Amino acid sequence: MVEDNCIFCKIVRKEAPAKIVYEDEKCLAFLDINPLALGHTLVITKKHAKSIFDVSEEDAKHVFEVAKKIALQMKEKLNAEGINFFQASEEAAGQSVPHFHLHIIPRRKNDNIDFNRWWISKVKKVEDEELEEIAKLLRVEETEEERKEEKRSGEEIYWIKREIELA
Ligand code: 5GP
Ligand code: ZN
Repeated sequence: MVEDNCIFCKIVRKEAPAKIVYEDEKCLAFLDINPLALGHTLVITKKHAKSIFDVSEEDAKHVFEVAKKIALQMKEKLNAEGINFFQASEEAAGQSVPHFHLHIIPRRKNDNIDFNRWWISKVKKVEDEELEEIAKLLRVEETEEERKEEKRSGEEIYWIKREIELA
């Protein structure tokens, strides 16, 4: 349920301080100690789960429901003109605290937060057909079993190689 050395579990147990914004039985929201913007909030599950791979679907849904409430508060109370959600899962994605959390960042025009450039710098030239193929692979109507049987051997390996080429 909780991890002894996890800073966010300590915040859940109130053994470490935090500026709490919202709390219920499943999750906790508090201000980021190093904010990108005034009001930058983290919503975490109370139950320790490292990343999107480990968190339960129920908890993940709930985090987003709470995030919506907080986003509305930011609009109303901080006059936020926009919101960015950000979630990093695992080290490869830049996750620095290994306890599932969703960032909510209130935005304003001309606030000089350069999310746009970050995204643009990541864009690689990929043909439309390739995008369609990737989308097909990612669609989840099929059962996990069907996906494994049909795709793993051929197509997925192709796309893993393609990803490496584009990197
Ligand atoms: P990540 O890089 O894992 O997506 O984000 C971790 C976030 O947690 C960072 O934005 C960092 O500033 C914040 N953070 C790290 N330690 C603490 C802490 O002890 N208290 C609070 N309130 N935020 C923290
Ligand atoms: Zn934890």
